[in-house]
Amino acid sequence: MAALHDKFGRAIRDLRISITDRCNYKCVYCRTGNEGALYGDLPFNDYLRMARILVGMGITKVRLTGGEPLLRKGVVDFVRELANLCPQKESEPLDIALTTNGHMLAELAQPLKDAGLTRVTVSMDAVDPDRFARITRVPNGYEHVLAGIRAARRTGLWPLKVNCVLMRGFNEDQIIPFGMFAREEGVTVRFIEFMPLEEGRTWAPSTVVALEEILTRMAEYRPLVEVPHARSETARRYRFEDGVGEIGIIAPVSHPFCGHCSRIRITSDGNIRTCLFSVWDHDLHAQMRRGASDTELEEFIREVVVKKEERHHIGEADFVPASRTMVHIGG
Ligand code: SAM
Repeated sequence: MAALHDKFGRAIRDLRISITDRCNYKCVYCRTGNEGALYGDLPFNDYLRMARILVGMGITKVRLTGGEPLLRKGVVDFVRELANLCPQKESEPLDIALTTNGHMLAELAQPLKDAGLTRVTVSMDAVDPDRFARITRVPNGYEHVLAGIRAARRTGLWPLKVNCVLMRGFNEDQIIPFGMFAREEGVTVRFIEFMPLEEGRTWAPSTVVALEEILTRMAEYRPLVEVPHARSETARRYRFEDGVGEIGIIAPVSHPFCGHCSRIRITSDGNIRTCLFSVWDHDLHAQMRRGASDTELEEFIREVVVKKEERHHIGEADFVPASRTMVHIGG
């Protein structure tokens, strides 16, 4: 079967599935702190059917996200089922990754690895316990997350990435401490520019800590050397000059990479989103509920993917906020 492509010729290889809209953290840059889950979730078998069809259409990487995916009971069994799916290139197994806040990772790292999880990304926005609590609005989270990161390392969930969203006024002073953390813990720390996808609509250009500023600040700690990376990689990668430790910067605001986007998302309630900044969802689960066959679902998916947006319009006069915020899409 021909691989999935959009009308700009981009091949779609990368699928993110949100398996719950619930989250146990209320990060200040993501949530208002007042809203809970807004959307329901589906039985795992429904996500599995969607994933099976999409893998048959050329998806090679599935990332589970949320909400907080580890809140969902049965996630380990779901990973085991996903690991049985066979990508088009049968020589390469399906790459199954997870994005988590890490709060429950210490107990789940080994079972997830045993079930077939390949990689994990932990979101962490401060390396100081008090600051961490102020950002997440949850007490004692830092110890849990650190234990989760260490457990994931021990089990060989590798490469282990730690993602930090920088927001001016909250954590831009954490840049150098994260550089130290990357070196001490042997993880890749990736800084992500803050995007206008928050519930509270607090984003402004001035709140974004952009790539150049991150590099300048980190270089005050230690010199960095850029690591060559594939054009399709979202992160720019840097090593410290002495070879110990790697950081990355994902700069969708200051250096958009939409031209290389290979991603689509399925929300917890079974809608396809072709861009984080989409202003509409495409209800795949409604098709399943009406009894569509696999072939009909494939047709639906192809029609949706063709309409994938060319690029985002962050910071432009014609910017229209996305119809869902990050936590309800699945980052
Ligand atoms: N609960 C999981 C976690 O914490 O990783 C998965 C969901 S969370 C919404 C996914 C990622 O989106 C996290 O790394 C989070 O920091 C990031 N994120 C949330 N809001 C964002 C925003 N407005 N701009 C950039 N990244 C954001």
